Amino acid sequence: MTTHREPLGSVLETVGETPLVRVQASPEEVPVYAKLESFNPGASVKDRIGKYMLERMLERGELDPGGTVIEPTAGNTGIGLAVAAGQLDLEAVFVVPEGFSVEKQRLMRALGAEVINTPTAEGMGFAIQRAHELADELDNAAVPQQFANPLNVEAHYETTGPECYEALEGRVGAVVVGCGTGGTLMGMGQYAREQHPDTLVIAVEPEGSIFREFLDRDIEEGEYKTEGIGTHDTSTNELFDPELVDDVYAISDRDVHQEMQRLAAEEGQLVASSAAANSVAARRVARAIRDGELEAPHDAVVTVFPDSSERYLSKGLYGSFEEWTG
Ligand code: PMP
Repeated sequence: MTTHREPLGSVLETVGETPLVRVQASPEEVPVYAKLESFNPGASVKDRIGKYMLERMLERGELDPGGTVIEPTAGNTGIGLAVAAGQLDLEAVFVVPEGFSVEKQRLMRALGAEVINTPTAEGMGFAIQRAHELADELDNAAVPQQFANPLNVEAHYETTGPECYEALEGRVGAVVVGCGTGGTLMGMGQYAREQHPDTLVIAVEPEGSIFREFLDRDIEEGEYKTEGIGTHDTSTNELFDPELVDDVYAISDRDVHQEMQRLAAEEGQLVASSAAANSVAARRVARAIRDGELEAPHDAVVTVFPDSSERYLSKGLYGSFEEWTG
């Protein structure tokens, strides 16, 4: 494993090889381990796909040095792509519907990217369309489109998955990860199933999200505050393969809120809402394995803490439940 003790030439070399840390509240017999993705230079799991997608697109000639990468994104993917683009001699343009987090847009601009806002009412579909129009107008421009790009899955199949197995010497019984695009879970899940066909692969979503429709569950759609995971339109989740998934756990905003505070106070983990949802779900899976309700080939459960709470402090994240959801 790379230790990052040797001098490095650029921050791109620090993407990945994040620490895998035990969730202390998990059962001793079936420990949960979380990948701390805020250790990446852009401080989220999305640095992995930013680097991986752009390097592969350059290799394949889909983009040439000096070209422009255009992505419709309001979040961590923009930051991850901007970090990588800056180091790979590429321009970055992000099409962001108005009303999304100003902090993240500032970080994208600080990294040298251009941010183009589209009307909030037109939604993300319009931003995607605008990104493709802009790419068509330019020479040497491409839209990675994380929701539809198999390189998103491949990044995690090649890095996040193997890193967990290496750290745990292969003893991974279950992979429990929240889905936005589904890239993290699909990549880690595919890798896990190749190591042992009975490895449990469990998706996590907020209550109110509708990933469970993929498993033909009858569910009630609603609003949720947990950020970065969940969907209201499964037709956009082109990468999510229900065949790979044993179950989908839905976690309430209440449980997420409580777990975010607990992780900070008891475990020194300053993580955001999707990490807390993953932690709640992974601990449930671990208890179910311990109690014989679920069967897994090994005892360890792995999950991911995608980003840090610092990115959301202005959203009342460590306030009361009402302050956070209000
Ligand atoms: N958590 C956060 C904070 C994210 O930004 C994302 C990406 N939307 C995820 C979790 C989910 O990751 P993926 O897109 O790989 O499913």
